[in-house]
Amino acid sequence: MEQLSQQDISRQLATVEAQYKALAGRKLSLDLTRGKPGSEQLDLCNHLDGILGGDYRSETGLDVRNYGGLDGLPEAKRLFGTVLGVSPENVVIGGNASLSLMYTVIDLALSAGLRGPESAWGNSDEVKFLCPVPGYDRHFAICEYLGIEMIPVPMLDTGPDMDVVEKQVGEDADIKGIWCVPRFSNPTGCVYSDETVERLAKLGSLAGDHFLVMYDNAYAVHSLYDDAPGLANISDYCEQHGTADSVFQFGSTSKITFAGAGVAFLASSTDNLAAFKHHLSFQSIGPDKVNQLRHVKLLQDPEGIAAHMRKHAAILRPRFEAVLATLERELAGTGMGEWLAPRGGYFISFNTRPGLAKEVVRLAAEIGVNLTPAGATFPYGKDPADSNIRLAPSFPSLAEVQETAEAFVVCVKLATLRQQLANS
Ligand code: PMP
Repeated sequence: MEQLSQQDISRQLATVEAQYKALAGRKLSLDLTRGKPGSEQLDLCNHLDGILGGDYRSETGLDVRNYGGLDGLPEAKRLFGTVLGVSPENVVIGGNASLSLMYTVIDLALSAGLRGPESAWGNSDEVKFLCPVPGYDRHFAICEYLGIEMIPVPMLDTGPDMDVVEKQVGEDADIKGIWCVPRFSNPTGCVYSDETVERLAKLGSLAGDHFLVMYDNAYAVHSLYDDAPGLANISDYCEQHGTADSVFQFGSTSKITFAGAGVAFLASSTDNLAAFKHHLSFQSIGPDKVNQLRHVKLLQDPEGIAAHMRKHAAILRPRFEAVLATLERELAGTGMGEWLAPRGGYFISFNTRPGLAKEVVRLAAEIGVNLTPAGATFPYGKDPADSNIRLAPSFPSLAEVQETAEAFVVCVKLATLRQQLANS
C-alpha cells in the first residue's frame, strides 16, 4: 500500500466523506446478503408447474402421487448422479434441501453411528470438524448446534490447505470430518485442484474409522463462463484408494430450478447409503416424488442441465462483472482490499485490511446497504482478522447491484482512510 502523508489522507478522506454523505441522502435500500436466485432466474423454470400434464407415472410405472420410494425415483438418481459424477445406485434423492441431508448425515454419524452404536462419534468426549475458512455459515451452524468443535483451516486458491488438513487429521483422532464446497466454493469461488480432491479422497485412510468428507457440491454445474475450470471426480479417487465410505457428496437444484422447492440428493458408498436410508426411514415414508418427476421432465439429461445453466449464467454474469469492474476501477492497486474473480458460483469474497470488515458492514448498513454480517464466513461468527466480507450479487437487479457495488467501495475507502489517519 502506498505511503500517504497525513495531509494526503485527510484530503482523500474529505472527498470520500462527502461521497458517503451523498449516498446517505439517497435513502438506499439495497441487499447483498444471501445467495438467493433473482426472480428472472426463477422465471426460467415456471413451466415446472403443470409439466407432467396429468401423467404421474414414473418410468417403472410407479404412481408418484403415492407413498413409497424412500430413496427416490430411478430416473432422478440417474440424472442427478451425473451432477455428482457417480452411478445411480450410489445416489439417494431427498426432499427440497441438501442442507437437511447434510444435517441428517451428521446426526446419524453422531448419534446412531454409521456402523451401529459402537461407531457413533458421540461415544468420544470430544467431536471436532475441520472447517476451511472462509466458508459457508450454515455448515458451521450445524456443527455449533450439535456441539461439534470447529477447527478453522486456511482456504487456498486450490481448496483447503491440505498440508494443514493432513497434519491435523493425523494428530487428532477426535477430528471426525471436514466441510468442503469443492466447485465455486462458498464464498471464495475457488475450484479445488485435482491434487486437493485426491488428497481429500485419501483422508479416509489417514484418519481413524468413520471420518467423513462432507463434500457439498452445491455449485457443481453453476459456471458463469463456458471455460470455467472443472472438478476432478472424487468418487474415482475414492475407488482407487479404497475410501468410498469416507465421502458423502451432496447437491440440489436450489440454484438450478426453484430455491427451496427443488430436489436435493446425496451420494456415498453402498454401506453408508444403507445406514442413511435406515436412519431416514424413521423420519419419512418417502420424499416428494412428484417434484422429482417434474425435475426430470424439465432438465432431462446432462445436456439439458448444461443448456439450462447457461441461461442462469447469462443473467448472473453481468451482475458479477458489475461488482468486479467496480472493485477493479475503484480499489485495484490501492491496497484497500483483495478479492478473487470467480468463474462460477454465487459469491465474491472480499478481504478488507485487517480489522475493518465489521466497520465496512456497519458503514454500509447506515446508508441502507445490507451486507452479510462480517464474521459469518467463520466458525462461531468470528473472523480473527475481521477482514472477510461475502458479497452475493445474484438477487438484486443489475442496476441495484451496480449501485450497491459503488456504495460498497465508498464504505471500504472510508473505513480504510479513517484507520490510516488514526494510525498516521
Ligand atoms: N450448500 C451451499 C454451499 C450453499 O451455498 C447453499 C445455499 N446457499 C446450500 C448448500 C443450500 O442448499 P439447499 O437449498 O439444497 O439446502
